[in-house]
This record gives sequence, C-alpha cells and structure tokens, in this order.
Amino acid sequence: MDLQTADGVRRNSTKICAPVMAETVDQMLTQARKAKELGADLVEIRLDFLKTFNPRQDLEILIKQCPLPTLITYRPIWEGGKYDGDESKRQNALRLAMELGADYIDVELQVAHDFYNAIQGKKPAKIKIIVSSHNYQNTPSLEEIGNLVARILATGADIVKVATTAVDITDSARLFQILVHSQVPMIGIVMGEKGFISRILSAKFGGFLTFGSIEAGLVSAPGQPAVKELLELYNFRQLGPDTKVHGVIGNPIGHSKSPHLYNPAFKSVNFNGIYLPLLVDNVANFLKTYSSHDFVGYSYTIPHKEAGFNCCDEIDPIAKEIGAISCMIKRPDGNLMGYNVDYLGAIAAIEEGLRASNGASQASGSPLTGKLFVVMGAGGAGKALAFGGKEKGARVIVANRTYDKAKQLASKVGGEAITLAELENFHPEDGMILANTTSVGMKPKIESTPLSKEALKHYSLVFDAIYTPKMTRLLREAQESGATIVYGTEMFINQAFVQFEKFTGLPGTMNQQNDQTQEFSPHQVYHLKFLSFSDLSLNFPCSTKATDSGHFGEKYIRNICLVTLIAVGPIFQHYSYCISIPQCSIRCCLLLLYQ
Ligand code: NAP
Repeated sequence: MDLQTADGVRRNSTKICAPVMAETVDQMLTQARKAKELGADLVEIRLDFLKTFNPRQDLEILIKQCPLPTLITYRPIWEGGKYDGDESKRQNALRLAMELGADYIDVELQVAHDFYNAIQGKKPAKIKIIVSSHNYQNTPSLEEIGNLVARILATGADIVKVATTAVDITDSARLFQILVHSQVPMIGIVMGEKGFISRILSAKFGGFLTFGSIEAGLVSAPGQPAVKELLELYNFRQLGPDTKVHGVIGNPIGHSKSPHLYNPAFKSVNFNGIYLPLLVDNVANFLKTYSSHDFVGYSYTIPHKEAGFNCCDEIDPIAKEIGAISCMIKRPDGNLMGYNVDYLGAIAAIEEGLRASNGASQASGSPLTGKLFVVMGAGGAGKALAFGGKEKGARVIVANRTYDKAKQLASKVGGEAITLAELENFHPEDGMILANTTSVGMKPKIESTPLSKEALKHYSLVFDAIYTPKMTRLLREAQESGATIVYGTEMFINQAFVQFEKFTGLPGTMNQQNDQTQEFSPHQVYHLKFLSFSDLSLNFPCSTKATDSGHFGEKYIRNICLVTLIAVGPIFQHYSYCISIPQCSIRCCLLLLYQ
C-alpha cells in the first residue's frame, strides 16, 4: 500500500506521535513545533507534566496553537503517569479537550466506562477516543492480550492501545500477532529495551501509531526511539508488510553500529529490508518465535556466535570447522544457513594488502598460498584467521599465550603451535605474514604490543584484528620495520560487505581489486553508496599504498571521491585514471573519506 502525502510516498499508514512533556504551556508548544520540524505526524500532550494547569485557558492555547494534530493525555499516577489529584477534575479536563477540538484523547481502560457514561454519546465527530491499558511488569499471553483487547473494544473505543513490558525480545511477537489481525485501529507497544523492535515494526504490522521522542533520551516510556532515528535510520515511512527483517543478535547490543551501517546501505539500493539491534537472551527461542519469512537474516556477535551455530540447519564448511557463525540467512524453504564471514573479511584484507605490495593481480590466485602465516591468538578471531589461512593454502603457525589452545587450533588446521614467548625468536624464514588476533594493544591499553619490534623485521605483512585504535603500536612498529600493514577496520568492512551481499542477494564479489582499467559494475556502485552514506563513526582504514600515493594530497583525493560518489559509475573510473594512484583500489580511495 503506497500513500501519497505532502512529504512524499509512504508505504504504511502508521503515524509517528511525539510525546510533549514540559512544565509550561510555552515549552510544550516549543516542543510541538520541534516535533513538526522533525517530521512527526502528531503530538501527545502530556498534561500531567505541567507544573500548573488552568484547564480552559491552557487547553485552548495548546490545542489551537499546536502546529500538529493533538492527542491529549492526562495520565494518572495509578497508570504510570504523574497526576495524583482528583479523578473527576482529570476527566473533566479530558472532556474539555474534546470540546476544544483535540484530535484524540487517551482514556485509561480502568475508567473508560465512567467516561463514556459521562459524555452520553456526545462527542464531536472528528475526535477519536483511545482507550489504553499499560502493563509495566510484563507481556501477558496471547490469549490474555486478546481478552484485554476485547474488553477495550467493549467500552466503545475508537482506537485500542495496549502497552506492555518486555521481559524477553520474543514478547513483541504476541503484540505483532494481535496487531496484524486487529479489525480496529490499534496501538501495540512493548516497552523496554527488549521491546524496541515493537516500536519500529509497528509500521510493518499495521499499528495505528508509534511514539518517537523529540530528542534522544527525552522519552515518555523506556525503549522509545527518537523521531529522527525512526525516519532517518530506520526509514520508517518505507516499511511495509513485505519488508524483510534483519538484525544483529547479541547481548548487550545497544552500542552496536551495525544498524547505522546496513540500514543506509539497504536504502541506497532500494532494498526492502530493515536491520535492527536484537537484544537476545536465548537464540533458539528467538529463532523459534520469529520463524516466519518476515525475519530473514542476522549478524551474530558476542556472546551468541556459538549459540547461533547450534541453531543452524546447514552450515558452510569453514564455519563448521571454526564452530561459530557470524551470519545467518533464512532460506526460502525456512532452513537456517550459517556462515562465518569474519574469516572472509580478514583473509580478503590480507590478500589485498599482499597484492598491493607485490603488484599481483587477482587472477594469479591467493598470494597467501605457500606463505608462512603466523596467527597470534587462538580465540574467536584467531580461529577464523587460522582456518582462513589453511583454506588459502598457507602454512599456519598458531602462537598463543595459552599453549594448549594454540595446540588444539594448530592441529585442526594442520599447522604448528608455539607460545607467544617463543614467537620472539621465531624466524625460520623471511617474508612471513603475521596476523594479531589477541586483544593486546586494544584501547585503553594502546601502549601494549604482543610482539617486539625486533621480531617484526622478519615479516613482510602485518595485520592487526584490533580496530580501536586503528593504528596499533604493533602496526606502527611493523611499518617502521618496513612491513606492509593492514588495519583491523579492513576486516570489519569486508565482512560487512559479504553480509550485505548475503542479505540483499546482490551479485558480485566485493573484494575485487579495482584498478583503473577495470569496468565499474553496478553492484560496486552500490558498495560505494553503502560506504559513503553510512554514518559509522568508526575510524575507517585505508591501505598504506593509497596514502603513499605520492603527489596527491589526501584532501584532494577525498574531494575527488566526493565528486565521484555523486556522479558514480564510469566517472569514478575516469577520475581514478586521472589521478593514477598506482595499485590503489577504488575502495581504498573511498576509505580515505573516513580518515
Ligand atoms: P577472544 O576469543 O576472547 O580471544 C582473545 C585472544 O587474545 C586469546 O587468544 C587470548 O589468549 C589472547 N589474549 C588476551 N589477553 C592477552 C594477553 N594479555 N596476553 C596475550 N594474549 C592475550 O577474543 P576475539 O573475539 O578473538 O577478539 C580478539 C581481538 O580481535 C579483539 O581485539 C577484537 O576486537 C578483535 N576482533 C576484530 C574483528 C574485526 O572485524 N576487525 C572481528 C573480531 C574480533 P589466551 O587463550 O591465552 O587467553
């Protein structure tokens, strides 16, 4: 369903309602103007927040001067609000709001019969009465919610509102079921961080409205997103019943930057999908509850990579060997397919670094083949790197603080194990490749390093999985020793690209080396947009070859990239040619944007 509105086409009719909560009428009107500017459809005026309230005078001003349609709420303390005065005065104020032309009023289920009796059917035609129920403890069973909705409808409500509290992310599923089948306009919200998805997906499941705060944090209930976040990050107006849901499964997850990466990427290629932070306690429960084809793709992060692995119907061979997944796709037959894209991301970054340093083309196979590949660390990232190295035909050495873990991993990849201490004097040959996957050198302990500068001179390339900071002490000293360095952010971006392709089904390989002679394919354009418009606040990497590109300053390259991003495609190829950065991939140029 596409709706043409003054501000463009919407794929759903769910309204965004901004709660206005201030101590004075003036402040409320200022907030209402801000809500309009932000793109909200209506405001909920929370009378119970006013310090002093003169019903006739204040309601007249609030309703008449408000730049958006008004929902008047005067929430009593017994329903989670701030009003603790006389009940008849409260209901009188709501009746007055009706007479003065409010668009909606909110009446709590507990008093709805009294209220309807008092008005005796006399209500202006335009006003809609929302009868609401709030549960601040939990989310009842489907049957109980169904009964609650029936009780609300029996009052004569124009709009049903049920707000519950999430104890688990699966609680929202019951509200979605009720929303989808509701014959009357319904607001279904599950409060709290674990109910966050209910606030966004109400547009997909046909909710009458969702609440969005004017400022992040200025919320009327826990878990509420900001209007800006709804519109800009989650592309709220474009969500429809057929929008496919993706997300990152982790715990905690609030800090995740992934929604900022994938949502703009989806938008840039007009992919009808959304990507949410999914605060999951029990992966198996989550997958069982959201088993429909609406929920189709996930990234996995700490601590659920192994739990995700155990829930797969099919697993790609490397992920199987590693014993953990980082990406899961629901196939059309409902089967869950697990992948470990961490290793793809890291290995591609190292291969790219090697090719950039020796001028080899992609056609000549993996530059890792036959190389002595030393992996420091035997944790999650260590496993991904070691299996990736094996896959590419490298001779793998695993060096770990805890020798037993090194031994276990080395035996799985057909390599050798040593301790980190032994690595100091390990130089069977020159030109080895080193990958650090220990957390030594990560913020805040940025002065630590897992290997001495002296030992680094035997390596031709050093990769560090750490990306905070981007330039670790290990990488700095490796560079000073003459090695090519590859940043951890390369791994992060590469794995994100691979997941993006798996989610969207867009064809092509993204780790291709782009040189000035190569055609610029449409999917690469997507990738450029993907990077350029994402608002990741990570410090993005750039290959050393790109920064060393000689006579062109970074700023100049950055401007060229900006121009080319606007006029993507062949023009980029042209500029790439003009500035002739030897062996510099388009991606590397692009990444300079983020330096
Ligand atoms: P993990 O499973 O906890 O493994 C940590 C590894 O670091 C283990 O091998 C551990 O050795 C070693 N280690 C920890 N403290 C040490 C110390 N003081 N001295 C020597 N070794 C030490 O963690 P992970 O998931 O593999 O992550 C490791 C690093 O990779 C983190 O910095 C993470 O941010 C980074 N990472 C980056 C990406 C990316 O996209 N760039 C992706 C994943 C991870 P023991 O076995 O002896 O404990």
